[in-house]
Amino acid sequence: MKSKCVRSSFSTPGKVTTLLLAALPLLAITVLPAPDAVVQELNQDTVRRTNAQEPDAANDTPNQLRVVVLDAGHGGKDPGTHGRYAKEKTINLNLILQLGRKIKDKYPNVRVIYTRSSDHFVDLYERGAIANRNRADLFISIHCNASPSSSRVYGTETYTLGLHRTQSNLDVARRENAVILQEKNYQQSYKGFNPNSPLATIMLANYQHAFIASSITFAEKLERSFRQNASRKSNGVKQAGFIVLWKTTMPSVLIESGYLTNPDEENYLRSEEGQDEISTAIYKAFAQYKQEIESGD
Ligand SMILES: [Zn+2]
Repeated sequence: MKSKCVRSSFSTPGKVTTLLLAALPLLAITVLPAPDAVVQELNQDTVRRTNAQEPDAANDTPNQLRVVVLDAGHGGKDPGTHGRYAKEKTINLNLILQLGRKIKDKYPNVRVIYTRSSDHFVDLYERGAIANRNRADLFISIHCNASPSSSRVYGTETYTLGLHRTQSNLDVARRENAVILQEKNYQQSYKGFNPNSPLATIMLANYQHAFIASSITFAEKLERSFRQNASRKSNGVKQAGFIVLWKTTMPSVLIESGYLTNPDEENYLRSEEGQDEISTAIYKAFAQYKQEIESGD
């Protein structure tokens, strides 16, 4: 019922449009119908992204990682998921602030920008826009997961933008995207995007293709670090259509740092020790990624 009003613009009759998803395993997808507004939007975004990749004339060391945007999922009126005691928005914020402090301590020259540094609501599209406006080199969004069907499911997952391969990956993206329905101008902001539509998810995947390889490289380091530095069970690197990653013009990941529906993992994520371990694991992956791109490996 919630999605009724957004679906109407997707059902407008239109011509057959073929989208090439260059860096995805699914190379060509026939989309029927595609509203002209969305296609136009795709073209505009491609132009912006190309400009964003041009080397800065004043920048003689183009491979430096100078600006990182840290995004604590949810906030304010949107609590995200929850466990028996913990709210996702609170854990996300604690993790992101700790991560930011660790990065600043070790790399005082890296600009750390938060999409929120307190408990308030930020629209999903604005989070990516903050990263683009500041010409960020990396975007990290932190969340907590939930499994409505079983309290036994646990572990970390890191997502990059792409086409989901399983129903459970799609379910995670739908849950994280559903918040747009609470935003004031979501029909204008997302041009009729319906978070429940698989078609909409496929269209999202086209945007980030220039950064998919770097995003996956960083995501793999994160999952390895969760295993090695925080003794977590890694459920691996996955793809799905997250709106928050949609228009970012830099490598971008969304971390699901554990399941609040699993009592043990909820206790771990609520604890000082758990939050320190998770933020340290993310920091170590960040440091490794930074070192790697700056040395040109
Ligand atoms: Zn979330």
